[in-house]
Amino acid sequence: MTTVESIQPRRYSMLIDGERIDAEDARRFTRTSPAHDVVVGAFIEATTDEVDRAVQAARTAFDDGRWSGLPGTTRARHLRRVAALVEERAEELARVEALESGKPISQARGEVAATAELWYYAATLAQHAYGDSHNALGSEYLGLALREPAGVVGIITPWNFPLLIVSQKLPFALAVGCTAVVKPSQLTPGTTLLLGELVTAAGLPDGVVNIITGKGGVGSQLSEHPLVDVMSFTGSTEVGKKVMAAAAQTLKRVELELGGKNPQVVFPGADLDAAVDAVVFGVLFNQGECCNSGSRLLVHRDIADDFVARVVEKARRVVVGDPLDDRTKVGAIASQEQLDTIERLVGEGVTAGAELLLGGHRLPTSAGRFYAPTVLDGVTPDMSVADTEIFGPVLSVLRFDSLDEAVSITNSTPYGLSAGVWTRDVDTAVEYARRTRAGTVWVNCFMDGFPELSFGGYGESGLGRELGRHAIEAFTELKSVVVHTGPRRNPWIPADGAN
Ligand code: NAD
Repeated sequence: MTTVESIQPRRYSMLIDGERIDAEDARRFTRTSPAHDVVVGAFIEATTDEVDRAVQAARTAFDDGRWSGLPGTTRARHLRRVAALVEERAEELARVEALESGKPISQARGEVAATAELWYYAATLAQHAYGDSHNALGSEYLGLALREPAGVVGIITPWNFPLLIVSQKLPFALAVGCTAVVKPSQLTPGTTLLLGELVTAAGLPDGVVNIITGKGGVGSQLSEHPLVDVMSFTGSTEVGKKVMAAAAQTLKRVELELGGKNPQVVFPGADLDAAVDAVVFGVLFNQGECCNSGSRLLVHRDIADDFVARVVEKARRVVVGDPLDDRTKVGAIASQEQLDTIERLVGEGVTAGAELLLGGHRLPTSAGRFYAPTVLDGVTPDMSVADTEIFGPVLSVLRFDSLDEAVSITNSTPYGLSAGVWTRDVDTAVEYARRTRAGTVWVNCFMDGFPELSFGGYGESGLGRELGRHAIEAFTELKSVVVHTGPRRNPWIPADGAN
């Protein structure tokens, strides 16, 4: 096991046009491990000039065809090389991820493995980004629908799954021939910058991937930049709206993956052992700092008391602690701001009449900030804990009497990212899935994701879809080419001059 004594702060550089950009300490900000209170990384606050240079580099690399002009097979080979390098450097990446984010190392290892799978999968799309042909427009016409790379993609990511989320976007944009400027969260930029090293080592041409670091202002400049064609953003709904407004100034295309208030809905007759485990996992995974967090439990009144008691009993046994310990399931809360939000919202829930069955407090530790797994029962749809994203290990329990009511409560928040339903009745499962306004519905499982399946949200959970073959649409333009063959019939002005 890595110990806190062995943690050395790393000094990172940015990547612009194939060059590693360094800076003096005065221009750097640091990240402190939220579990250990020790500095783990020093990063550069990019200047406006550096943001501009990164975008110019991506623009030039796109326009001169050094990447988009390569055959798909060649781009695919490059992406597979990055995937293999991710696997080679897996332990280092997992360690940096755990130290910066506070997530358990065992989970971080799983995310690095999933990251490699995303790059391998995206590589297959490099050879499948084709359009359509129209051969039934009349004998003198042939219509072609060409898929072309959309251009320069600006990518902005949050702190909760830094490596995984950039890999839900970057390799897909690269597969179809786009170039990119990436801005990771200022809280967790380390693994994205290490990924930049791997991209360089894999032989991608200079300027194809540029990585700049800094706070929101850097993201804002990127979103406004006239030479960026597509913005792909994952983060809060509030900032997502700002990115969309900024992008509107130059009519960029925007793809947004935002917040969620996702329910797990449990019906009588379901496999309740599995459901209890999945509910505990769903809300506590990644300390609940997860867009897909199953932060609402909707349970049928007939089974509610027993089911909730079992959830509480299991949640009580979850190991919370040092992210570097292999046994830890729940690590540290990423920032003081996040901890304040969790404490404020739990307080609001209790004041509004919710019953605290478990947790509801910060854990006493000598270093870092940890929050106890928390269960709030007796929550009603009018309470803030029923429809506000808490982004912490806090479960809000609501009871229902019918499928109609379960659907109505499910759809009662502004969000629509994901939902889970637990039932052995196929009619209930299908009807719930159809009537739920969410980008993903899990039936008898929760948060199981695959590179092949699209991901995204309804309502204030976002716009567009990433992953799967739909990612091709996110990062390409469609161009119609109309080819005429043979002599021109019915000329507008006949050759003999007669009208
Ligand atoms: P955030 O919105 O505060 O920040 C996200 C990124 O945007 C960061 O890189 C930040 O520096 C940047 N940013 C801040 N202000 C900006 C501005 N004005 N213009 C452009 N960029 C700006 O989000 P966060 O706190 O890092 O992450 C948590 C949020 O992300 C939660 O709401 C969560 O639900 C959401 N999230 C969504 C998904 C999804 O796929 N739907 C996945 C993970 C996280």
